[in-house]
Amino acid sequence: MKIKLIDLKKQHDLVQKDILADIENMFDNSNFIMGDNVKQFEKEFSEYLGVKHCISVGNGTDALVISLKALGIGVGDEVITTPYTFFATAEAIAFVGAIPVFVDVLEDTFNIDPSKIEEVITPKTKVIMPVHIFGQTCDMKKINEIAKKHKLYVIEDACQSVGSKYDETMSGNLSDIACFSFFPTKNLGCAGDGGAIVTNNDDLATICKAYRVHGSGENGSMAYNIIHNKKEEIAVENTSDNTVYNAQKYFNYLIGHNSRLDEIQAIVLRNKLPLLDEMNQDRKKTAKFYDEHLNNHYEVPKFDGEENHVYHLYVLQTDNREKVISYLNDKNIATGIYYQVPLHLQKALEYLNYKEGDFPVAEKLSTTAFAIPMHPFMTDEEKQYVVNNLLEAINE
Ligand SMILES: *Cc1c(COP(=O)(O)O)cnc(C)c1O
Repeated sequence: MKIKLIDLKKQHDLVQKDILADIENMFDNSNFIMGDNVKQFEKEFSEYLGVKHCISVGNGTDALVISLKALGIGVGDEVITTPYTFFATAEAIAFVGAIPVFVDVLEDTFNIDPSKIEEVITPKTKVIMPVHIFGQTCDMKKINEIAKKHKLYVIEDACQSVGSKYDETMSGNLSDIACFSFFPTKNLGCAGDGGAIVTNNDDLATICKAYRVHGSGENGSMAYNIIHNKKEEIAVENTSDNTVYNAQKYFNYLIGHNSRLDEIQAIVLRNKLPLLDEMNQDRKKTAKFYDEHLNNHYEVPKFDGEENHVYHLYVLQTDNREKVISYLNDKNIATGIYYQVPLHLQKALEYLNYKEGDFPVAEKLSTTAFAIPMHPFMTDEEKQYVVNNLLEAINE
């Protein structure tokens, strides 16, 4: 038996026909940029999360960059985040000219340790950016309390946690602004790159919409007025539709991006969103099975509540990682190491002058943690095969 770490084929078998039919329709309309499917997806995704605005963008990294810019974060500002995440989290902070300030994580949830956040707050701190790592929501009550006390913004990096909750509220709806990625392997993935920003704040939504398309047009002018605290309207005549010729497109108010979700990706996402809860439920069932069979032999992921974790990745800890991985590899069971290098030790961030020993928990996890196969619709046989081999590997 060969078992992949993440198998996308099964979920796509359920929707592929519908997706292809919708794509044919798309060619009939030929409305490729910001077409109906993009608009409908934004509506459906914001309804799913219970949030007021969804601004779809080209990928999760752009979502982070645009969110930071929308909050006015730039050169000299400090943003507190975790060193135990995908590089894009800190990259986005650095990209806007701000300084990533790391706080160590909790050993049992891999999430940022809220009790260590206040120690690093300075007058330059503007944002706390928690990451709901591997699909488990952070302790948002504590994080939001700290943010409120010190007048900081909170941006959730919810790229791995779509569909997870915290106190009955969806992740992504627990802060000022939140970012999602629809990279194919994420719990809600498209067939290429895609991302979204969500917020309940009208002004932030307008600014994000402006940054998405070169700071131009009506949103550009409104965003300009919000940012510069101006009342007067900048009148631009609206003509024609968006794709062909629209005079508004050629009036620019902010230095923005070209970062849109495309119509094909929106079609894929609209077909998959109705399956998301079922797919997440199925991941949880697999996680439960793994927990029950592995918890005496490995450090299994701790979760704070049934609804809080959607198991984007199922990550075990063991001191014998290399041995276990190589045993599984011989049995055709894929594994992955998330993350080999904590961000404070990444070459690209050496200018921040962190050193080994600064974040002992993250550093330890980087030597003990590894992910085992986790995707919706794994068969009982597959799960049993993974478990059997993990038990053999450790008892060898
Ligand atoms: C995937 C991911 C991103 C980036 O998303 P892309 O769509 O690949 O740009 C950012 N943060 C985290 C935690 C992620 O897992």
